Amino acid sequence: MSSLDDTVTPPHESSPSVGSSILNRRRMLTVALGGAAATVALPAPAWATTDQRPGAHHPPKLTPDDRKVIAQLSSRRALEHLKVLSEDIGPRIGGTASERRAANYIAGKLDHFGYHTTLQPFPVADKFLAQLSSPAGLPTDLNWQVGASAHAALDTSVTASVIDVGAGSASDFSAEAAGKIVLVDYVAAQREQVAARAVAAGAVGLVFLPADLVEPRRASAFSPTLPGSAASPLPIPVVGVAQAQKHRLRALLAARPLTLTIATTAHRGLTSYNVLAERQGRSGPDGPVVMVSAHYDSVIGAPGANDDGSGTVLCLELARVLKAIPVNATVRFGLWGSEEQGLIGSRYYVRELPQTERDRILAVYQNDMVATSWDPATRYWLLSFTGQSNRATDEVTAAAQRLGYQPQISPVTQRGASDHQSFQEVGIASANFSWRGEESPALLEPPYHSPEDTIAKNISLERLQVSMELIGCATYATARS
Ligand SMILES: [Zn+2]
Repeated sequence: MSSLDDTVTPPHESSPSVGSSILNRRRMLTVALGGAAATVALPAPAWATTDQRPGAHHPPKLTPDDRKVIAQLSSRRALEHLKVLSEDIGPRIGGTASERRAANYIAGKLDHFGYHTTLQPFPVADKFLAQLSSPAGLPTDLNWQVGASAHAALDTSVTASVIDVGAGSASDFSAEAAGKIVLVDYVAAQREQVAARAVAAGAVGLVFLPADLVEPRRASAFSPTLPGSAASPLPIPVVGVAQAQKHRLRALLAARPLTLTIATTAHRGLTSYNVLAERQGRSGPDGPVVMVSAHYDSVIGAPGANDDGSGTVLCLELARVLKAIPVNATVRFGLWGSEEQGLIGSRYYVRELPQTERDRILAVYQNDMVATSWDPATRYWLLSFTGQSNRATDEVTAAAQRLGYQPQISPVTQRGASDHQSFQEVGIASANFSWRGEESPALLEPPYHSPEDTIAKNISLERLQVSMELIGCATYATARS
């Protein structure tokens, strides 16, 4: 998935400080950006196991078990996985081939690390997606995944020059619209009338442009619904782009004439997968279990580097490390499919789990968005669906104390909206861990759920390393208990 602007600026002259103080030793890691040769420097943490961490308030007081984990955790390795997920594969939409490619990659790695790895299939709803591209290949980056309407032309492709009809009122549609692809501001209450006007004016495609959201939020790409046309779909493709894509399209059109291709695809009869990987501990097949998890799917048009590629690669890197050191409890990794459509994968997993298996689980560490480079995201949140603390939050709090991160972590805070909720709904100790704005866990970075959720624009390797260390130490302490 290519980034949106063809003039690539390095994301940060200096990396966002994890806490407040800046590290003294640092190496720059280069990352290829969207296939183009441009590279972007990502500061990589180069602290030693016993060094005081950036933002920490004292040098770490590590247990021997902590050292075993920390000495091996590498955000550089994790980054290699993230490149595959968010650049080679790109958006990973529940049940589609892109999500399956990611599942195969993840399962292959866990299998390679020596875990007993399985794929758990479950049915999911149809998806309607589109590719928006410029046939001339100029600008080179204009090749975006966007949402398609299920109530308009599907499995089709149109190429035409573009005109902007603004709000799309009757007077905005002149004869000039015939044979064109029209850009229209999306207003939910007007969408059906506007779409009908476009068809009547002879337009061959319609691109809905979402209104800007209040910063730091930005609108995502979407599949417009036209319920009035459900019975007889419109004869032209209708798509919904993201806020950043809207601005890019209008900027391009203001600079020169623009020709676009819209190719829509219906993805029907879909199966999504959870990836499960297990290593039995000394306590045997009926002994306690500790789980570490993340979701590996993303939303339409988003490469999902931070949401939730970061949590997924945290799991892969931790799996590599925990495979080589002794554990008492069984260590199990869960990579959930179709989280973005409503925690579908994790809820399916929990539903299929017999009570005896539920009772074995000591804690589930969910990692959703654990490495944003957004400067204001200086707080590491402990999110519990019930608002109560539990084994997972307790172990992370203790690990933060040992690592010197106490001041940076939040008190246990009530919030669901990620896969930990599926476990807490049936009384299993679980929590979600995530870097977000200081004041509230609702303060998410601007690239969230957008085409800009890329490694270059939204990943801090230092925050990834800290997240891996906190979860690694907490998980290993649980697995050794
Ligand atoms: Zn997420």
